[in-house]
Amino acid sequence: MIEDWKIILYVNQLRDAVSLNYNERIDDINLVIKKAGYQYFEDHFGNDFSGLSKCISAGHYAIGFNKDHFWSEKFRRFTIAHELGHLSIPEHRNKLDQTSLHRSKPEFRSKDKIEIEADKFAIYLLAPKKSFTEKLKNKNFNSETINELSDYFQISTYAACLHYIDLTDLACSLIINNRNGTIIYERRSKQFINGFYHQFLYKQKIPSGTHTYDFVNGISSDKSEEIELNSWYPDLKNKITATENILELGYNNFVLTLIEPHKSSDEENY
Ligand SMILES: [Zn+2]
Repeated sequence: MIEDWKIILYVNQLRDAVSLNYNERIDDINLVIKKAGYQYFEDHFGNDFSGLSKCISAGHYAIGFNKDHFWSEKFRRFTIAHELGHLSIPEHRNKLDQTSLHRSKPEFRSKDKIEIEADKFAIYLLAPKKSFTEKLKNKNFNSETINELSDYFQISTYAACLHYIDLTDLACSLIINNRNGTIIYERRSKQFINGFYHQFLYKQKIPSGTHTYDFVNGISSDKSEEIELNSWYPDLKNKITATENILELGYNNFVLTLIEPHKSSDEENY
């Protein structure tokens, strides 16, 4: 896997090439494509992929977007930024020169190395580390913060959650569930990993006693609640209170659970 610092380097090389400074927001992603000298097209491609990169002839490339995956303008921007990653990361571009065509899965939905790397490129391009970190400072991990970050950087709430988790110095965790009541995936911040030892939640049923359980089962429609962290993580030794927030992705039936444990009164320990 290419390290993050190297991906940021490739992002900044693209920003240099299209005369953007390293920290400014990108208002018009199509202008970036144009300035980089690539072609752009949209079409209906069915449901198998969201975007594509194509080598038209030596040194000439096109980026395509699947209109059947137009879930939001934020999602379209991310898909394009992902393709810009394939054209900007030398290893990816070399591969594309050989194969002529690459099709990409929706954001953060693939376990393939080059898809993960292009997703990282996309998020660092659209939400530069420095400006994103400044924006999240002193803000709790909840739907209000995530919606604010999502609107400011014009990225999906899902992308904003993952970027927050990776860059925050707070302890927090993100759980991705489907509406049938199963946990699909979990991600933890560095501080959470350091502060709480617990097996990762994966492919289990959402535990009863959590707010998300009540939400997906129609027992409650509230989006935020104080909970015991132990209801999600039963093997924790101490009882810890936390805030649990719910965000609906709006597509693919995903429900995101944002968890932030409360600090104890000495403000240092959980
Ligand atoms: Zn891809």
